[in-house]
Amino acid sequence: MKLYAPKYYKKFHCIADRCEHSCCIGWEIDIDRDTFEKYKALKHEYASSITDSISAEGTPHFCLTKDDRCPHLDERGLCNIITNVGEDYLCDICREHPRFYNYTSVAEVGIGMSCPEAARIILSSSDDAEIVEIGEVDVAPDSIDFDGRAERSEIYAILQNTAYDYSTALDKIYRKYSIEAGEDNRWLEILDSLEYLDPDHKALLMNYSSSCRPEGADEFLKRFLSYLLYRHCTEAFDADDFCDRLSFCLFCERLFASLLCSEGAESLREIATLASIISEEIEYSEENTLALLQ
Ligand code: SF4
Repeated sequence: MKLYAPKYYKKFHCIADRCEHSCCIGWEIDIDRDTFEKYKALKHEYASSITDSISAEGTPHFCLTKDDRCPHLDERGLCNIITNVGEDYLCDICREHPRFYNYTSVAEVGIGMSCPEAARIILSSSDDAEIVEIGEVDVAPDSIDFDGRAERSEIYAILQNTAYDYSTALDKIYRKYSIEAGEDNRWLEILDSLEYLDPDHKALLMNYSSSCRPEGADEFLKRFLSYLLYRHCTEAFDADDFCDRLSFCLFCERLFASLLCSEGAESLREIATLASIISEEIEYSEENTLALLQ
């Protein structure tokens, strides 16, 4: 079926050793079956360094070092698997990160905001709501009763309508889908109950206040919301599910606004860092996403 992506998608390239936040630290990386077999069959002086670093318990995965780093990440932030045996020997997760895929009647790919380079690209691209065909994938289309892509297009049309300023557009979206922002105290209770990778991030997110919105940051907020809608709404199985997902995206948008305001973020780098923190702590944790959706 056809594969679509946001127009900015092709701008992304991993900046590896120039990245201030390696995705090879803090996350246990599962190895897909084909790559695992490829590692076992590899004839190279680096082969035993790879196989010795894998735990085959449950899903095969690289065992992190004591300081939570991927064992193949060197001091310069480069991947020893790539430098020794080449990119063809990366497992699926490492090759694809930070890309994500959604499958409905078509396939959609995007870049995840937890990567700061992806966040900078998304937040600095004015074509945030332009989705273009980029190829085909060998996956059968899902038969779907609900068209989340069409619904998302309607929201994009509201956000892109130059007759409305951003707060008017947001207001129209809340009303069209009968979404209420909810009490801050209730959201804070949920934020307090989540699992965090970094306790400093929890402290940051616990400053949430829906009344705290930054001035002059509407474009960044709109692009952040467009990204979330792209990623989370299309796989909705019916209208209620779509509203729940939309409500989740709107909460994340308020959380982002609140963080920009409380942290006084102004430069693209500062703003992208905060977007990455929300993405990493919330979107990239199934449990946390679920807790907020519920
Ligand atoms: S976080 Fe992004 S830019 Fe940084 S190393 Fe990972 S994929 Fe590359």
